[in-house]
Order: sequence, then structure tokens, then C-alpha cells
Amino acid sequence: MTPTTPARPAIAVLGSTNMDLVAYVATAPRRGETVTGRAFRTVPGGKGANQAVAAARSGAEVTMVGAVGEDDFGVRLRTALEDSGVRTDGLRTVAGESGTAHIVVDDEGGNAIVVVPGANGSVSALAEGDEARIAAANVLLLQLEIPLPGVVAGARTAHDNGVRVVLTPAPAQPLPGELLALTDLLVPNEHEAEVLTGKSDPYDAANALLSHVPEVVVTLGSRGALYAARDAAPVLVPAPAVEAQDTTAAGDTFVGALAVAHGEGRTMPEALLWASAAAALSVQRPGASASMPHRHETDALAA
Ligand code: ATP
Repeated sequence: MTPTTPARPAIAVLGSTNMDLVAYVATAPRRGETVTGRAFRTVPGGKGANQAVAAARSGAEVTMVGAVGEDDFGVRLRTALEDSGVRTDGLRTVAGESGTAHIVVDDEGGNAIVVVPGANGSVSALAEGDEARIAAANVLLLQLEIPLPGVVAGARTAHDNGVRVVLTPAPAQPLPGELLALTDLLVPNEHEAEVLTGKSDPYDAANALLSHVPEVVVTLGSRGALYAARDAAPVLVPAPAVEAQDTTAAGDTFVGALAVAHGEGRTMPEALLWASAAAALSVQRPGASASMPHRHETDALAA
């Protein structure tokens, strides 16, 4: 029998693009103090763009909806997405600065971050062509680094067109019922799940979230991911045991890969195992989108 190739899912991402400005220091400065850093890097990031790259490398057709500024960072952010195979005709260039994340990483691996939304702050509604971009997808990936009205508008368009809505509720914040009612799958990490529910136990948090959304995945770092749905017992999918070097964007890699695997028709438990393999590969390499695996690498680890 000839093996069947799964259909290539179409994924739309409505969300942020940021340039991460990363300074490496022995000890982070206190207020009023100046310290000399060891190194500096500029790295394309933003949760929206990261999820788009993860999904594209995992084999989907991906379109990014959002905004960059009319600065040099905007040009680089767009090019980085295109180099990963992401369509960017829905990524507008607006007046002003691109989004930036100012990150200080100390020798113990701890970090302090200031995010300046810049152009991402302009994405508070859908623009011309965005409805069609979202309606043409199988899955819409959303996060919370653009204004909430933009997130809700995207979720509503997807919902009205039968497109599956997958929401990463980060940065952690309480969510309006209107948005939860439009969400098919919510993917918080442990901290976000606790902020949303007040419950520190992930099983309790997942259970509480099921009264608002039909499916939940709580990611648990090296302990894996907890999947809960209204019609089935919860399943804990363990993460492959690996030596983690840099867990930046592990969650975004996980969500991008999960959306692709499920969009190809795999069951959620199968899709979760595949996404766990993708995220395990990403934590063994430095960087955010630079660490995200290509499909054949994830297939090899998941086999
Ligand atoms: P980030 O903010 O760094 O993107 P997150 O807090 O959103 O991550 P996590 O729960 O830390 O998300 O990780 C997401 C997934 O990545 C986990 O469910 C797991 O599959 C994988 N993962 C994370 N850390 C490790 C690790 N040390 N070893 C193996 N897999 C890991």
C-alpha cells in the first residue's frame, strides 16, 4: 500500500512580531546602576511570529496577520518570516517603531524583560483582506501580544467561518467571556492557567477552564502537557527526556506544531506527542525561532 501524505493544513496567525534585543550580563543592573555586558544580539521574535515560524517549519501553509513599523527592524522581521516560508501580505507596515522586547539575561539564566508593543499596538481591528485570510485557514492561532479587541475580532471571524480557534493566553491576564466563548482550544502554561482560574493544580485548573472552552492543553515544561476535553478523561502527555539548553519559545514551538499535526487529521493525543517532540528539539538548541525544528527532524524524534 502507498502511504498517504496528509493534506497540508492552512494556518493563519493573528499576533505580534517583535525584535528581541538581548543583552548578556553577569548580574543584571539595579536601579541607577550601569553594568558592562558581555554580548548583545538582535533576534526576531514575538509570540505571533514565533508560532507562525513553528507551524511553517512543521509543514503548514502559514499566513501572518499583524503589523511592523516602518523602521529597519520591520524590514528584518518581515524577511525573517518569509525566509521560514510564512506569507506576509497580511503583515502591514505602519508609521512608527516595530515592537521590541528588551531582554537582560544574567549568568544564572535569569532574565528581566521590557516589551514595547510599537506597531503591534495598532492591530486592534482586522484590516482589508484579513477576514478572507482567516476564513481560508483551517486553524487560527491567537496570543495576547496585540490589543484584545483585535484578538476578539480575529476569533469571531474564525468562529463564524468554521475555522478552529487556538488561543495561547500569554501574557497572562484575565480573559473576557466573549473571547473564551469563541475559543476551541486554549493552551496556557501552568502559570497562565493559575492566573485564569486561581487554581495551582493543573488538573483543577484544566477542569475549571472546561466550563468555558471545549478543549484545554496545560503545558508543564519538562513534565509534558496535560490535555483535557469535556467528553474524555484528562491525558498527561510526557515530554521526551532531553538535556535542555534554552527553553525560549518552547511553548510557541509546541503550539505551532500541535496546530499542524491536528490540522492534518491526527487525534489530539497523537498530535500532542508530535508537538512534544518538536518542543523537545527546540529546547536543546539556543534561540527562539532559530531553535525551531523542521518537519523531518520532528518526524525522526517522534517515530
Ligand atoms: P516559553 O515561555 O519558554 O515559550 P512556556 O512556559 O509557554 O514556554 P512550557 O510549559 O515551559 O511553555 O513548555 C511548553 C512545552 O515544551 C512543554 O509542554 C514540553 O512539551 C516542552 N518542553 C519545555 N521544556 C522542556 C524540557 N526541559 N524538556 C523537554 N520538553 C520541554
